[in-house]
Amino acid sequence: MIASDLATAISDLRGLIEGADRILPFTGAGISTECGIPDFRSPGGLWTKNQPIPFDAFMASSEMRNEAWRRRFVMEESFAKAKPGRGHRALASLYRAGKIPGLVTQNIDNLHQDSGMPAKDIVELHGNTTYATCLECSERYELSWVRQKFDANDQHVPDCRCGGTIKTATVSFGQAMPGDAMRRAEQLTLNCDLFLAVGSSLVVWPAAGFPLMAKRNGAALVIINREPTEFDELADLVVRNDIGDVLGPFIAD
Ligand SMILES: [Zn+2]
Repeated sequence: MIASDLATAISDLRGLIEGADRILPFTGAGISTECGIPDFRSPGGLWTKNQPIPFDAFMASSEMRNEAWRRRFVMEESFAKAKPGRGHRALASLYRAGKIPGLVTQNIDNLHQDSGMPAKDIVELHGNTTYATCLECSERYELSWVRQKFDANDQHVPDCRCGGTIKTATVSFGQAMPGDAMRRAEQLTLNCDLFLAVGSSLVVWPAAGFPLMAKRNGAALVIINREPTEFDELADLVVRNDIGDVLGPFIAD
């Protein structure tokens, strides 16, 4: 059922949230657009101008690794300035109220953590671009450190102390999905009684599998997204209004 207007959407959503004990928010790019994070995949988005470098190409040559890092530093202005939006803050409020045991996100922007949700309860299916790790030993590196070395060494990215390759902590195209994140996302999906898809087109694998899994397991399904998704017919409530406008009333602080 598609909510006819914003007031109806908010009131129906409030009813479902009040009736739920364990809500699983599943968030995508749409929740971060009001924060100045571009939706990379959208027409005119960053990726149409600056195609992401697939994992194989990244690994194959140091030139591609340097290029990948150059592109990452170009995006840093958007990422560094971004603050949690109304959607992030509303979900953090529901977390504090004990309604949300954990959250699954396709986003790599760290804004759920910035909104006050503890990192341990956030499952990042595509990793996180606000820091880097060594692909060999998993040592964590801050971007400011990588950038300083990069600039000091004629735009060449440094290697880890162990000799391994340093990469942003994201899951690139062609890189294996993190098994632990997938398992935790599945557990949260099977444990929830309300699955709240926010700002995801629910197309990119593995996002497509979770709403169906929740619904089959008896959970209610709410989809808040500007564009239609292929799960709209299954959903108990579909909201196409602006995410910040819809979730804003649920901010408690
Ligand atoms: Zn290492």
